[in-house]
Amino acid sequence: MSAQRINGKEVSEQIREDLKAEVEQLQAKGIQPGLVVVLVGEDPASQVYVNSKAKACEQLGYYSEVHRLPADTTQADLLALIEKLNGDAKVHGILVQLPLPKHMDEKAVIDAIAYEKDVDGFHPHSVGNLMIGDESLLPCTPAGVIELIKRTGHEIRGKHAVVIGRSNIVGKPVAMLLLREDATVTICHSRTANIEEIARQADILVVATGRPKMVTKNFVKPGAIVIDVGVNRMENGKLAGDVDYDDVLETAGYITPVPGGVGPMTITMLMKNTLKAAKQINGIR
Ligand code: NDP
Repeated sequence: MSAQRINGKEVSEQIREDLKAEVEQLQAKGIQPGLVVVLVGEDPASQVYVNSKAKACEQLGYYSEVHRLPADTTQADLLALIEKLNGDAKVHGILVQLPLPKHMDEKAVIDAIAYEKDVDGFHPHSVGNLMIGDESLLPCTPAGVIELIKRTGHEIRGKHAVVIGRSNIVGKPVAMLLLREDATVTICHSRTANIEEIARQADILVVATGRPKMVTKNFVKPGAIVIDVGVNRMENGKLAGDVDYDDVLETAGYITPVPGGVGPMTITMLMKNTLKAAKQINGIR
């Protein structure tokens, strides 16, 4: 039997509808969630992401600003802007679009964002809270992954989850979130031996390697939930995931397509984080 497709676009729209209702309630209290996106340089992919974020803000009635800075902006100028935004009461979320130009120290820039406004969830304070299980703003893509798994209607608790990839922005936080949901978690990476064998034990398989179509049916246990985080631009201009969708389709129980799976969830979770930050900053639970 063919795997059921997990439609990230649809789930994303449902969450945005829920957010709209919450925004109205906040607006009745005189609060408008505000998100600022800072883009340094002219990376074409980043431009697309930044435009989508601004559009999502508009759709949900958020206050939004986009700062487009030239590629030769100094780090001191960028830090000064962040400092200003940290103190701006209209702004509840600050996102600096990565990657930054080579002359900048990404870590220093992320560290400079007030953690209450760290809607990307990359600040060490947020990462630490995720690790110890305290309340924090969760990194958007990993949070989207968990949401999609939940939408299958299957419990995460007690399942064996295998995450392929250990980056700080996807693999590691996904693994921590799955652990928080009481899964038994195995993390694989480029040095893992017998990776196919390990992956085949997974009830839930999350793939974030940046290697197009790396995961074939040999990695997949029949009936498993397969979440493909990968976004790779192929030579023909089309997008492909890290999972070979067609090959895995008859083996998996559920699968996310690329595009239309995890991708749309990332911006939606960013919107959710901005709303959460607006509430927290204003002392609303
Ligand atoms: P990174 O390059 O930072 O990390 C890739 C990870 O995959 C590393 O841990 C690496 O292992 C591991 N890896 C690479 N090759 C193999 C292999 N052959 N076998 C096993 N593990 C391997 O990538 P990101 O985590 O930033 O991104 C992963 C993918 O997710 C990309 O396609 C990216 O475009 C996509 N992405 C999508 C987002 C979305 O919104 N949908 C958001 C963010 C990313 P090691 O540590 O040993 O090098």
